[in-house]
Amino acid sequence: MLRENGFNYEFDPAKCDECGGRCCTGESGYIWINDDEIAVLADFLGISQNLLKERFLFKTKRGYSIKECEFQGGFACVFFDKVKKNCSVYEARPSQCKTFPFWEHFKNNLRELQAECIGVNLL
Ligand code: SF4
Repeated sequence: MLRENGFNYEFDPAKCDECGGRCCTGESGYIWINDDEIAVLADFLGISQNLLKERFLFKTKRGYSIKECEFQGGFACVFFDKVKKNCSVYEARPSQCKTFPFWEHFKNNLRELQAECIGVNLL
């Protein structure tokens, strides 16, 4: 069970196996990835950073975000494995994914978090 200072909930990563990837699918949203993370992900995929940006990322005023594709009436991250229902680049996923569900946003949006993540228990 994982806990973080300042958050009034805990997270059980073992629940990810039965969840089906709700944190990687659903409504469209930004999946931020910084320059260091781009380098790690490109290396993991065995492609150049330029090719990674061209095929899998898009640029905004704030930086790069991972592209999405349509999935079950909503959207999924392009790196979401639709068959295995998990992240195909798990070891090289960006910090936004690694720090889920301990995001500042969820401190004041617990209902939204509980609807999205079955691994969360309020303390
Ligand atoms: S990179 Fe992996 S963990 Fe992050 S949203 Fe995409 S599929 Fe999910």
